[in-house]
Amino acid sequence: MLAKFAIVRKCTLRKLASTSISPKLTDVLIVGGGPAGLTLAAALKSTPKLQHLKTTLVDASDLMGKVAPFYDCPPENFTNRVVSLTPPSKSFIETKAGAKMLEDRIQPYDGMYVTDGLTNSTLDMERESMAYMVELLNIQSSLLKRIKEMNLPDESLRLLDNTKVANIEHSDPEDITSWPIVTLDNGDVFKTRLLVGADGFNSPVRKFSEIESRGWFYNRFGLVATMKLEYPPYKLRGWQRFLPTGPIAHLTLPDNNATLVWSTTESLSRLLREITPEQFTGLVNAAFVLEDSDLKYYYCQLEKGAISTEELLEDINFRTEQVYDSLENDDLIDEVYPPRVKSVLGPSRARFPLKMFHADTYCKDRIALVGDAAHTTHPLAGQGLNMGQGDVEALVKALENASMRGLDIGSLLSLQPFWAERYPINNMLLGMTDKLHKIYSTDFTPVVALRSLGVDVINKFGPLKDLISGTLSDSGR
Ligand SMILES: Cc1cc2nc3c(=O)[nH]c(=O)nc-3n(C[C@H](O)[C@H](O)[C@H](O)COP(=O)(O)OP(=O)(O)OC[C@H]3O[C@@H](n4cnc5c(N)ncnc54)[C@H](O)[C@@H]3O)c2cc1C
Repeated sequence: MLAKFAIVRKCTLRKLASTSISPKLTDVLIVGGGPAGLTLAAALKSTPKLQHLKTTLVDASDLMGKVAPFYDCPPENFTNRVVSLTPPSKSFIETKAGAKMLEDRIQPYDGMYVTDGLTNSTLDMERESMAYMVELLNIQSSLLKRIKEMNLPDESLRLLDNTKVANIEHSDPEDITSWPIVTLDNGDVFKTRLLVGADGFNSPVRKFSEIESRGWFYNRFGLVATMKLEYPPYKLRGWQRFLPTGPIAHLTLPDNNATLVWSTTESLSRLLREITPEQFTGLVNAAFVLEDSDLKYYYCQLEKGAISTEELLEDINFRTEQVYDSLENDDLIDEVYPPRVKSVLGPSRARFPLKMFHADTYCKDRIALVGDAAHTTHPLAGQGLNMGQGDVEALVKALENASMRGLDIGSLLSLQPFWAERYPINNMLLGMTDKLHKIYSTDFTPVVALRSLGVDVINKFGPLKDLISGTLSDSGR
């Protein structure tokens, strides 16, 4: 099937070349209509010094049919792809890109309560409006709405969805600074002054540019789910517990809703997706309260099919009540544990492979990479999309400066300030997240003792704690 597809594609490309379709000219061609690509398109068109640039955005998915309708007709339940958006990212989307997200579906939160699944060490970071929990569809659909409301003619902004990039080549094969020619699978051909890869981890633009991306897969998966709580949270904060298999994070949404990211091994993520919603709900409640040995026992029993849902839930209830009873007073329950989950929307469970990759550079002559095309990270620090927003902000700034100085916006000279600004910040965030993942993925006693000691010291030392929460809250901006 794949081979057949490759032959058809080759024939199509040969046919396009032989008919020598004259390419449409554009100043900026953005590949990717994810959060990074759409923010860039909206920001370019909202920036007086860049508005004149003819812009084209191409995306393989059904943006107008499946993403845009979310804005005017959002579903009653929260969707499962929710991200923690930092204040600078939110402000950039709203002010520079001019998009107005659906506020009633956004939840600001005032800190993170981080615990170690193997010891009692705790990091309690309090920070007002540290970040905002937002659905990806809220971000994307509000940007699409903004683009639609600008009512721009086709020559100013062309948005092509359900369309894939089929081929990219230099207009002059001998000259790597020549304008790229981009052939789409609908037969359109574009020649662009600047080609922006906002096309995610498998970025065709990065492959064309031959920019190396280095990193590794964690052999872990992030399982996401939408949850209904027994009662709205007493404290508006995120909860993260580091289990030896990976962190589980309970993040708050409006009213009695919450979202979950459970990072864990491949086999366990499969089990967690396959068990019934009731069993899954029980395990989520157990995962924040019980010992890791209890959890391992449940996983094992569920894998063997040796425990019924009633037995599982009864056992979890019994054990969690024992833990609650051991606390000095009942008020502490809401202080140290997230609100109990009443149910999980079964189909909302989905899993994603986790990895850390970083491109050697984000630009070459005529090419810029932003977002996941340039870097991907473990979600434990909630930085991936925020780093992408930082990239877009820096790229827009670099293009503005280039435009003011009369430079060619596709030249390396124009693009270099963007990568010089972003690479060190992203490298620091990627390194920090990777180290946290590694330090917490072990149950080797000396490491567990050292990390717990370190966290206890940080927790007592206000300025250092503020520095960490500040870095997370502004994504290094
Ligand atoms: C479980 C999980 C939790 C996360 N939580 C957070 C969080 O709390 N905070 C945070 O900041 N980040 C978080 N992230 C990361 C965040 O989701 C990503 O960093 C972000 O969505 C990437 O956006 P992007 O626009 O760069 O790329 P993408 O969203 O991957 O978009 C790429 C686009 O390119 C298009 N495309 C690809 N190839 C082609 C082609 N050949 N032709 C045309 N179009 C193409 C695709 O259709 C797609 O729309 C999380 C990630 C995971 C997996």
